[in-house]
Amino acid sequence: MANVQEIINLIKGGINKEEAELLNKAYNFAEKAHLGQKRMSGEPYFIHPFETAKILANLGMDTQTIAAGLLHDVLEDTSATQEEIQENFGADILFLIKGVTKLGTLKYRGHERHIESLRKFFVAIANDLRVVIIKFADRLHNLKTLRFVPEDKRHRIAVESIEVYAPLANRLGMGKLKGELEDAAFPYAYPKEYKETEEILKEKKGLYKKYLTEVSEELKKELEKNKIKFVEIDYRIKHKYSLYKKLLKYDMDIEKIYDIVALRIVVDTVEECYRILGLIHSLWNPLPGRIKDYIAIPKPNGYRSIHTTIFTGLGGVAEIQIRTKEMHAEAAYGVAAHFAYKEMGNKKSKDDKNKFKWIEELKELNYSFNDQKNFIEHLKMDFFSDRIFIFTPKGDVVDLPEDSNPIDFAYSIHTDIGDHILGAKINGKMSQIFTKLKNGDIVEIITGKDSKPSSKWLEYIKTSVAKKNIKSYLEKNSLLSKLKSFGQS
Ligand code: MN
Repeated sequence: MANVQEIINLIKGGINKEEAELLNKAYNFAEKAHLGQKRMSGEPYFIHPFETAKILANLGMDTQTIAAGLLHDVLEDTSATQEEIQENFGADILFLIKGVTKLGTLKYRGHERHIESLRKFFVAIANDLRVVIIKFADRLHNLKTLRFVPEDKRHRIAVESIEVYAPLANRLGMGKLKGELEDAAFPYAYPKEYKETEEILKEKKGLYKKYLTEVSEELKKELEKNKIKFVEIDYRIKHKYSLYKKLLKYDMDIEKIYDIVALRIVVDTVEECYRILGLIHSLWNPLPGRIKDYIAIPKPNGYRSIHTTIFTGLGGVAEIQIRTKEMHAEAAYGVAAHFAYKEMGNKKSKDDKNKFKWIEELKELNYSFNDQKNFIEHLKMDFFSDRIFIFTPKGDVVDLPEDSNPIDFAYSIHTDIGDHILGAKINGKMSQIFTKLKNGDIVEIITGKDSKPSSKWLEYIKTSVAKKNIKSYLEKNSLLSKLKSFGQS
């Protein structure tokens, strides 16, 4: 049977006596509260919060979050009260549990609800990102036991996980969790496609592994000969759902996909990354056009690594990824260190960076594995407290400083929209363009051909992008009118 030590063992770097006591208390409280309840699988209900807490420990979360994971269902499903939680575990843990419970009432019902879900998620993120991470862990364990759930509900949960949860995990830079959520949901969301992908993978996996084993044996010898140190050489198999998405892109032609299995080399320093790349290219011929230096030029979500694909001889090809320990940890556990925009498809624009300035700031925190505690402190969202998330009717998110108004919102979408703003609908209601926006508002900008900026706006706006654009509009126009009056005289 389960016990709290199993969770504690997963915490990297260990914990102090107080923290262990907290976990022990949360463990006993939850176990007792759920006593007699059963999951649909017939197992004791407590297995679920217990596994949720283990996932959180594996993600490197702080003990408060892990404790909240143990307790995340007690408010909704047991007779435990908010007062009891507050008294036993304090206001912070109560806040986390309440947040998870609120998010729990979300149901995925098509596009409109999808936006609503995302909206709730972003509002939760603004309050405390840890709420969302507990929800991810909760969902991951529910997916793992989905086979016991009635079929219609099963499908809904699986699709929602792929459409809402996974992209959000991806935005938060949590690559490992994103892959796990998708792969756990894939067979229930799209059973036919799942089987197809599995077949293809089964057929090819062995072959690619064989190529890589040969390459890695030879490479290890050469590294030793050249006295280049490495931390780890391993291979990873592409997640099934992400392979499926790639197959779709290439008309299901597996021969065009080179990274089904990739060799991963982890080293200490950036310099060693490049030395190893040089060595690899001197041993095997690289495929033209497949050398990617994401260290010099990181992906938009901050992903860093060097990729190259080589001919292994006798018709084989293999992808090799080279990175430092830090890059390796970031790519897996990012936790808000990096945000990705891949899921927005072609809409990706250079403005995306400006939309989420706080991401850049988060990156500057220079999240590293050893500095987990410090990082968690920042996750407590004092960091986000002066930002609000505003939605377009289509569900795109714009992040703005507190007290921003529709004019700020309009300019952060496009200069033209700002220059011609006539009015705004806030949550469906016609409103003043000077109205202060609130976190989670849905704003539709109404433009008019003859509407134009006025100097009065400058007193109300909060963003520098609006200020810059209004000023430049006003300057241009006063220059124009001067020229006109000059011509007339
Ligand atoms: Mn739960």
